Amino acid sequence: MIEKTKVFTEEEEILIQKFLRLKTDAGSHSPSIFTLKQKLPELPIKIDACFLSNPYATDLFLNYFTKEIINTGRIRELLEFYPSQNQVIAEIIANFLKINPASVFIGNGAIEIIQAVIHNFVKKKIVINIPTFSSYYEFAQEGVEVVYNKLEKSEQYRLNTKRYIEFIKKHKPDTIVIINPNNPDGGYIEHHEVKVILDQVKEVENVIIDESFIHFAYEDNSFNPINTSDLLEQYQNLIIIKSMSKDFGIAGIRAGYAIMSPEKITSLLKNGFLWNSNGLSEYFFRLYARPDFACDYNKVRVRYIQETIEFINELHKIKGITVYPSMANFVLLELNNGMTADDFVTTLLIKYGIYVRTCSDKIGLVGEYVRLASRTKDENAYIIKSLNDFFNS
Ligand SMILES: *Cc1c(COP(=O)(O)O)cnc(C)c1O
Repeated sequence: MIEKTKVFTEEEEILIQKFLRLKTDAGSHSPSIFTLKQKLPELPIKIDACFLSNPYATDLFLNYFTKEIINTGRIRELLEFYPSQNQVIAEIIANFLKINPASVFIGNGAIEIIQAVIHNFVKKKIVINIPTFSSYYEFAQEGVEVVYNKLEKSEQYRLNTKRYIEFIKKHKPDTIVIINPNNPDGGYIEHHEVKVILDQVKEVENVIIDESFIHFAYEDNSFNPINTSDLLEQYQNLIIIKSMSKDFGIAGIRAGYAIMSPEKITSLLKNGFLWNSNGLSEYFFRLYARPDFACDYNKVRVRYIQETIEFINELHKIKGITVYPSMANFVLLELNNGMTADDFVTTLLIKYGIYVRTCSDKIGLVGEYVRLASRTKDENAYIIKSLNDFFNS
């Protein structure tokens, strides 16, 4: 056990207390880097390995944005005029994905879609695998029963398909949620296995598959993207939710979409969501559907996946932590040195300027865990060096 008093100076202790207060205020999500920089300017943050985005994709977007919107003065149009309506942007995405436009719904971030789906379609019972992304149970309304399917530590928190199907048949929920790859552990269910599940849960009204990290997953040596949009034709109960925040590195823009049955979308659009995109997100969605951008994006996607694999390989060599298998751009780390996750997070922040996410608030994890994101190659190298320094000292 490491004694805190020996590790930190008095000034550092004060910083820690302030940091912990900010964290408590942020509830089940982490305080944003803006909040930290504004409220705690003395905090030496060098690397945000808490937020899970591809930094190369942010660079790419910024290149396009600067050239086409800033340098041309088109920024004025984006600010002055109304953006297109939900269904107009949906059609652009649908054409790109080669699916029915009536099956696409645009969201102000995936979070808006999660809220809409949970509030409108979940009637009595929802089954959620834990650990998970907290909004799925936090948004459940009064009267809805939330049933947790515990992923097992002994199975490295991977979904056991057979037991999962049995669980659903026993509990008979109207809604189930699968995050693939899962947040916070990166556990991945292969495409053929997803189909096995879908075939067995036809009586469930809403099968939500959250694919916010699917661009980081791969099933072949060339890292070809996984495409699941074909599934909707076959499974009418399917709701695919896709955030653009992580893989495109644009959380600030608020862009996400969902693919679901036209009937569900019609009922949502009756309740609102008309102009829920803004000028910036409309520009992004139009860019996303362009072949030139898609081609450039795929290069930074593959580069980032390859660097993430190297990063994870290096993490495996560090003594004192267990690295859980991940197909996402982050890993779940278990601490084996007797330290609590919260103490570890503050130590990394204060001593090395690395901001990682504690998982102490994540239900369903047995032990002390943090979630660590892969960043640029240089930042990853700094993280590895710091962790080695920390665990060897
Ligand atoms: C981050 C995240 C979201 C929310 O994404 P936004 O598009 O930024 O709202 C949804 N689902 C999961 C699993 C996430 O990790």
